[in-house]
Amino acid sequence: MRHLKPQDGPLLVASHNRGKIWEIRELMEPFGFTITSAAEKGLDDPEETGTTFEENAEIKALASLKATGLVSLSDDSGIAFEALNGDPGIYSARWGGPDRDFAMAMRNVEEKLQSAGATTPDKRRATFVAVLCLALPGGETHFFRGEVHGTAIWPPRGTLGFGYDPMFLPDGESRTFGEMMSAEKHAWRPGQETALSHRARAFQKFARDALGVE
Ligand code: IMP
Repeated sequence: MRHLKPQDGPLLVASHNRGKIWEIRELMEPFGFTITSAAEKGLDDPEETGTTFEENAEIKALASLKATGLVSLSDDSGIAFEALNGDPGIYSARWGGPDRDFAMAMRNVEEKLQSAGATTPDKRRATFVAVLCLALPGGETHFFRGEVHGTAIWPPRGTLGFGYDPMFLPDGESRTFGEMMSAEKHAWRPGQETALSHRARAFQKFARDALGVE
């Protein structure tokens, strides 16, 4: 794809999540880009009616593009457990209920894993997925997917992070995402080809393909 340039205008982050907006601002401002967000523009979140991470990310990016005409970037993420046929997947946020109670969501996952007979690590495989969608004026869209594989552990460990972090042990690590600082989850590490977290891996692809940053 053609690389984005600051002359393409401000980039709109199609999100109300301060953490996501902050991460993208940190990544792009050093290259001279101006960042704005759906929150700043007072845009409502569209209904996520898609059946894949890509579809939901595209719905969000195109809604922001249509409302403002600005180049828009969205993200959709979640966790998929193999023994649950990929659930909760795109419904990860919704499994937390209206109060976004992820202690409850994790208990629910654990009960379902037990019912499915997923009692040994090899049957408890889990994948965190993040898909970024970039929507360009005219409606062209580009996708950047990042994944990290690991094992579902019980009981959950750690109070850092959010969502399903405390029950996710990434492959090759001795600590769960709930026991890691966010900087550690997102950073590149010496000797590692890729960043650790699904979102950081998706960003890495976005930076390479859309900005030309290696
Ligand atoms: P959405 O992409 O904002 O629709 O929500 C994704 C949901 O997936 C979040 O509410 C979390 O429950 C879960 N999730 C996504 N990424 C992470 C992560 O890095 N750690 C823990 N949970 C996550």
